[in-house]
Amino acid sequence: FDLKNDDFTSLAELGSGNGGCVMKVQHVRTGTIMAKKVVLIDAKPAERKKILLELQIMHDCDSSFIVSSYGAYLAEPNICLCMEYMDKGSFDAIYKRMGPIDVRIVGKVAVSVLEGQRYLYDVHRIIHRDIKPSNILLNSQGEIKLCDFGVSGELINSIANTFVGTSIYMSPERIQGATYSVKSDIWSLGITLIELTVGQFPFSGSFDSDNDSDLENEHDHPSLLFANTDTSGDKTPAPPDPNGHRASLTIPSDLPSAKRRSRRRSKGVSLHGGGMTISIIELMHQIVNEPAPRLPKGKYGADAEAFVDACLEKDGEKRTGLTGLFEMRWIQDSRANGMDVAAWTKTF
Ligand code: ADP
Ligand code: MG
Repeated sequence: FDLKNDDFTSLAELGSGNGGCVMKVQHVRTGTIMAKKVVLIDAKPAERKKILLELQIMHDCDSSFIVSSYGAYLAEPNICLCMEYMDKGSFDAIYKRMGPIDVRIVGKVAVSVLEGQRYLYDVHRIIHRDIKPSNILLNSQGEIKLCDFGVSGELINSIANTFVGTSIYMSPERIQGATYSVKSDIWSLGITLIELTVGQFPFSGSFDSDNDSDLENEHDHPSLLFANTDTSGDKTPAPPDPNGHRASLTIPSDLPSAKRRSRRRSKGVSLHGGGMTISIIELMHQIVNEPAPRLPKGKYGADAEAFVDACLEKDGEKRTGLTGLFEMRWIQDSRANGMDVAAWTKTF
């Protein structure tokens, strides 16, 4: 496709994140339904050309575990990325609507994410860099695919929003400025798997839960108290990154649901107008200094626990790599666990 704005009619807004917003659109000439991500960028013409070139890699990705791309184009001052529309949306929205997800489905998510990561790395030498529930998409055929991987260093550098490049799914070593590796994505996968299984983002004093009944009320996002978010005009020196990606500590615009009952209040967490407010700096501090989160013991099976524990080894050097994870029993069992994901999608 050689695409431009006039080629589309907008059907719905699918959501928005730090980088921009995503629309459900129809490509008029062919009737194809697509998801169009519009990202506001701040880049010079030469940089824009480079972004488009880099995004070509997205077009070259061909895997059933990666959301496919129809192409990208510039529509000043935005860049538009047109991709496969996934009609069941992202896993964050699914668990926030439905509550905790059956661990056998979560096992299928783990398999798909690992397969997607392996494809990106083995075939294109790409590290995803932004594994989280909202970047794992589902369609009604039961396919689970990754989107929003870091193909373009130039794009990451140009996104006008300063709150881009870092997330609350970041590994301890990444927070401490280490260069990105596949191992960092594996940490993010571990956090994601707990979040989907338990129905809650696992930091800030979560799993003492003696009753799951209040989870229903936790599906909205509490606001963040940004301790240090005014980065406008602030060119924080970034740790070196071999791929030239900006690696500064920036702040996500949202935080998945966290416990907000006052008895669970812990250091650095303050209550604010009935909702919980947590400093992002405090969260980063927790990730680095507290023991890694774990699945609650005895509830989801020892193999799932062992897998998550392997992902959430705090020392990036010691953390199991992709090959090792593929060999773990939970992954092998999850491939063959008989869950029909397509049938499951019919239930919501
Ligand atoms: P984030 O991933 O941080 O939520 P994004 O701007 O990347 O922010 O995406 C916003 C939302 O749009 C996602 O949460 C997801 O629900 C939805 N979305 C993104 N891409 C697609 C797609 N290809 N098909 C369907 N929904 C999508
Ligand atoms: Mg996304």
